[in-house]
Amino acid sequence: MTILILLIFFLLGTIFGSLYNVLIYRLPRGESVVYPNSKCPHCGHKIKPYENIPILSYIFLRGRCSACKNKISMRYPIVEALTGFYFALCAYAFYIKNNENLSILNIPDAVKTIEALLFGSILIVQSFIDLDWFILLDSFNYAGIVFGLLFSVSGYGFVDIKSSILGILFGGLIPFLIYYIYLKVRKMEGLGIGDIKLLAMIGAFGGIWMVLGAMFFGSVIGLLVSIPTIIKNKNMQYYIPFGPFLSIGAILWMFLDRGILVDRGILVDRGILVGQFIDRVLWT
Ligand SMILES: [Zn+2]
Repeated sequence: MTILILLIFFLLGTIFGSLYNVLIYRLPRGESVVYPNSKCPHCGHKIKPYENIPILSYIFLRGRCSACKNKISMRYPIVEALTGFYFALCAYAFYIKNNENLSILNIPDAVKTIEALLFGSILIVQSFIDLDWFILLDSFNYAGIVFGLLFSVSGYGFVDIKSSILGILFGGLIPFLIYYIYLKVRKMEGLGIGDIKLLAMIGAFGGIWMVLGAMFFGSVIGLLVSIPTIIKNKNMQYYIPFGPFLSIGAILWMFLDRGILVDRGILVDRGILVGQFIDRVLWT
C-alpha cells in the first residue's frame, strides 16, 4: 500500500514537473502557457502526445528531437524526476509516516502535504527560472505569500497566522536592511530584490525559523558551490543566482524542522539547532 501510494505520488509529480517545464520556459518569455502546444526550439516540430510522456519520452527519443535529431535539453527529464521525487517524499514525510491507517483521511496531515507540494512547486519553478534568467517572478512570490497565509489561517498549515505574518515581515525586512546597507556601503547589490521577496514568501509558509533556515543552509550550500568558480575566476564578485540556494535551504529546513523526517525534539535536545531557549520563546 505504502509503495503504491509513493509510486502514484511520484508519477503525479512527473506530470506536474512536465507542466513546470512549460512554465519555466514560457513565463519569462512572456508566452502563453496554454497555447500553442510545445514545439522543438530548433525545427518547430510539434511535439506529439506520445513524445510528451514525462521522463519516458526522453529515454525513448534518446534525448533527441524525432524530426531534426537535435538534442533535447537534459533539463526536461531532470525537472520531471525532481518533482516526482519531491512529491513522493512529501507524501511520505507529511502523511504516510504519521498515519498507520491509510484508509481514513487525516485532514490536518493532508492539508500539510498539499502545502508542502505547493510550496516546493513554486520554489522549483522559481529556481529554474532564476538559473536561466537571474530573475524571480513577482507573481509567484506574491501568490506564494497569499497561499502561505491561507494555509496558516486554515489552522492546519506549517505554522499559525501570527508566525506567518512575522515570517513575512522578518523575511522581507531584515534582508532589505542588508540590501540597503550593502548598496550604501559597497555601492552594489549583495542580494537581489527578488531574493528578498522570495524570503518573505518563505516566511509566509514557514515563519521566522524557516527564513533563517533558508538563509543559513542557502548560504552554506551556495558558498560550497561557488568556491570552485571563485577560485577559477579569481573574482569574489562573481554572480550566482541565490534563489535556487534559498529554495534548497527552505526545503531542507521544512523537512528537518516540521517534525518530519527527523524528530524535532531530538534536534533541540542535542542542541544542534539554535537552542532550546530561543526555540521556546519563538514557538510558544
Ligand atoms: Zn526538432
